[in-house]
Amino acid sequence: MKDRTILHCDLNNFFASVSLLKHKELANKPVTVCGSTEERHGIVLAKNEAAKKFGVKTAEVTWQAKLKCPGLIVLPPEYDEYEKYSRAARSIYERYTDIIEPFGIDECWLDVTGSRLLFGSGEEIAYKIKETIKSELGCTISVGVSFNKVFAKLGSDMKKPDAVTVIPRENFMEIIGDLPLGDLLFAGRKTVEKLNRYGIVTINDITLCDDIMLKSILGINGVWLKRYAMGLDNSPVTPVSRDYMPKSVGRSVTPPADITDRETVWKIFIELSESVCRQLRQKGLAATGICVHTRTSGLEVKETSRSFKNGTNCSITLAEKAMELFDEVYRFGSPLRSVGLRAINLKPKDGIAIQSDLFGKDLYDEKNEVIEESIIKVRERFGNQYIKRCRTL
Ligand SMILES: [Mg+2]
Repeated sequence: MKDRTILHCDLNNFFASVSLLKHKELANKPVTVCGSTEERHGIVLAKNEAAKKFGVKTAEVTWQAKLKCPGLIVLPPEYDEYEKYSRAARSIYERYTDIIEPFGIDECWLDVTGSRLLFGSGEEIAYKIKETIKSELGCTISVGVSFNKVFAKLGSDMKKPDAVTVIPRENFMEIIGDLPLGDLLFAGRKTVEKLNRYGIVTINDITLCDDIMLKSILGINGVWLKRYAMGLDNSPVTPVSRDYMPKSVGRSVTPPADITDRETVWKIFIELSESVCRQLRQKGLAATGICVHTRTSGLEVKETSRSFKNGTNCSITLAEKAMELFDEVYRFGSPLRSVGLRAINLKPKDGIAIQSDLFGKDLYDEKNEVIEESIIKVRERFGNQYIKRCRTL
């Protein structure tokens, strides 16, 4: 099979850069964009290079950042502007390919395999896009160029800002082998900690490990991580259209036997919400409401819903919200024939993710999402039965 050419484009310091386009006089001063102007709760959503030099970190509390950097300038977020620039960047990408998969508001994967004849090698296309973004939007991007999504993403993280990094098949291990495992997409903090205890520290380290050993440490996810490290990720760049937005996404189930206890409902909710959230993520949506549906063995139907402030497409969060609602309205007077849940009041995920960062909650959600993504990947390959969250076992 001929190799694919995948680009991962990442707008650098996205919020800070966009905000600074409006305040050019601040460009060389340390600037942050903070979620809430109230210092006690506000956290740093983004910082420019000057603020970075003072050790200011994303997600830290504003007053802590100010301790590190007394002259720090704090700007409020401007979500409409971010959305506008995100779309503008995307329309530049669209000049080179229509296979574009957004990853958050400021990152996209591009499959340019079919564009090479017209526009040159992946590296050449990367430079063209980078320069166009700079001249038309005034922002910088870093681009990773590789033969799969995981390495393209890794490449865009390796050099920033305003850089192109190529990770070719021929010698990728020379380039990435010594990087810490945590740099790899899907290698979360907990995973890395576990592997570090076994002396598995770098990307190269994990490729030398035995599958059985990895499985005993991390389950099947360990084997997948090794495959990613070996360059064997072959997941497609999945185009997501921003235009089509369903009103709600729901699932229900009628199990072979009536449901008589709460624990079973919980397990079902987790399964259902995983499926629902998967669809939400594919469409770049998040739910800001949940609807729970019950039908008793006497065929009495009840439906109840509630909206909430922080949008989510994280299945555990959604299942928890469904369970809360269920607990309030249902008392198991009679057994249940079927239950269902429905994600409602859907909104584009990007806007919501940023806003709920204010509450810190989304950091948890984000991690869960990454775990879920990897679970989904395994399921797609091997089918549902092979991997389940431990809570459903
Ligand atoms: Mg970025």
